[in-house]
Amino acid sequence: MATVKRFSVAIDEDKCKGCLICVHMCNTRGGKILKESDKKTALGGTKPIPEGDCIGCRWCELYCPDFAVNVEEQGDA
Ligand code: SF4
Ligand code: SF4
Repeated sequence: MATVKRFSVAIDEDKCKGCLICVHMCNTRGGKILKESDKKTALGGTKPIPEGDCIGCRWCELYCPDFAVNVEEQGDA
């Protein structure tokens, strides 16, 4: 039987400066789930938020210049 892996994506608000590179990568190469929110990070930037099911491609994590993104596999659905 086929299984579907689930992933979580977390943004460290203390490290994130709100450059939104992760949002760009997610929407151009990833699963199009990271969006701009109306919240600010500790550094005053726009906080990205995930909306929908992360596919675990990790483009956001790889391209974040501040190591503020953490993608984790949650196990099979
Ligand atoms: S790429 Fe990193 S620093 Fe930039 S908005 Fe995304 S999480 Fe924040
Ligand atoms: S791992 Fe891929 S789908 Fe998930 S938030 Fe990052 S870029 Fe988007």
